[in-house]
Amino acid sequence: MPRLLPGLNYPVLCGRERLAPLGELAPGGGICHFHEEDSTAMYRNFSIVPKIIFGRGSFNQLDDVLSSRRANSDSYIVFVMDDVFAGKPLEKRIPLHGKDFLLPVNVDDEPKTSYIDKLVAQIKAYAPQLPAGIIGIGGGAAMDIAKAVSLLLTNPGSSADYQGWDLITKPAIYHAAVPTLAGTGAEISRTCILTGPEKKLGINSDYTLFDQILFDPELLAGVPKDQWFYTGMDCYIHDVESLNGKFINAFSMAYGEKSQELCRQVFLEDHADAADRLMMASYFGGMSIAYSQVGACHALSYGLSYVLGIHHGIGCCIAFDYLDDFYPTGVAEFRKMMTRHGIQLPRNLTKNMDQQSLDKMVKTALNLDPLWANCLGPDWKNIMTPEKTLALYKRM
Ligand code: NAD
Ligand code: ZN
Repeated sequence: MPRLLPGLNYPVLCGRERLAPLGELAPGGGICHFHEEDSTAMYRNFSIVPKIIFGRGSFNQLDDVLSSRRANSDSYIVFVMDDVFAGKPLEKRIPLHGKDFLLPVNVDDEPKTSYIDKLVAQIKAYAPQLPAGIIGIGGGAAMDIAKAVSLLLTNPGSSADYQGWDLITKPAIYHAAVPTLAGTGAEISRTCILTGPEKKLGINSDYTLFDQILFDPELLAGVPKDQWFYTGMDCYIHDVESLNGKFINAFSMAYGEKSQELCRQVFLEDHADAADRLMMASYFGGMSIAYSQVGACHALSYGLSYVLGIHHGIGCCIAFDYLDDFYPTGVAEFRKMMTRHGIQLPRNLTKNMDQQSLDKMVKTALNLDPLWANCLGPDWKNIMTPEKTLALYKRM
């Protein structure tokens, strides 16, 4: 096990192991204990999703994929469906049988622990036995809800109790992802990001990983253009931050470079199979950061999200547009993508904010040591001062 630094109740990792993973606020701070002594380095032995289907129309195979889960007539599957599909053709295509439970979920707000607890109670009230599977159909938010629900059906207490690293002790209910939006990498990550009473932090564990992903690029068809762009840029930014970070290694580079190449094809060229490419970009981007780390843009976007409730994808876009000094080539290319797709980002978000809220934002961003260490190196605190962070936020 990695050594714990004094005063920290979780391992502080970097580069070879990932600290505060994608989309999460670490509950404290610290420095990487691997930086100085490479000879004692430990490497993450990480799990990935074991089964994947990819292809247009593969949603039609979902019934087939789930058939082996249905052990007897009491077995039932819960379909956690983004409620944007309520009454839409996709809802009618969900392969419901016998006692299956269609559970529409709302993602107007990013998922909260209280919402997860409510959904878990709803499923427990539905039948005396646990479901045979949980299927998440939607974007990063619906997929995260499906992961959290599948964990909390087998682990007692509130989802807030498990926000952190490897606090889950029992395997989850079988759970599968059907992404309808591409970019977050939530389909492949070992976390589900939740806003709890005390913190915004994911449930990180090997049990969080999906058992199955079904990638059907046709499902991206109805995504509003702005949302398609913001979530797609989440992926592009994962690539830029991973590839330009100090923690980069051949593993992360292999996935990150391919993901970035696919993003360029999707956002700067015209391809009939753009949706197929974006789905693979998202998966590869997730694989890249699984073995490296994100950077300045994600750190700043967490401040925006925590204090102003700005969603992940758009928050990353807002922050990235001010990061020429950190990622000059990536930001220039991002602006070309914005122009090509006529995207206008919201401005002056921090204009009327009081000092206390601004300070909270700065603190939130600077708490994310590993992200800054990846971006600027172990000496980052001397470079990214609170004053400099505040000045950046004031421009947004
Ligand atoms: P999202 O899931 O929040 O969805 C954004 C909007 O798009 C919603 O209104 C949704 O209803 C709609 N939508 C989704 N699919 C659609 C479709 N096919 N047609 C029409 N509308 C559709 O967006 P996202 O960017 O995919 O995910 C963001 C969430 O993912 C956040 O909650 C964030 O915390 C989380 N996240 C998780 C990870 C992880 O590793 N677990 C990583 C990054 C982000
Ligand atoms: Zn992200």
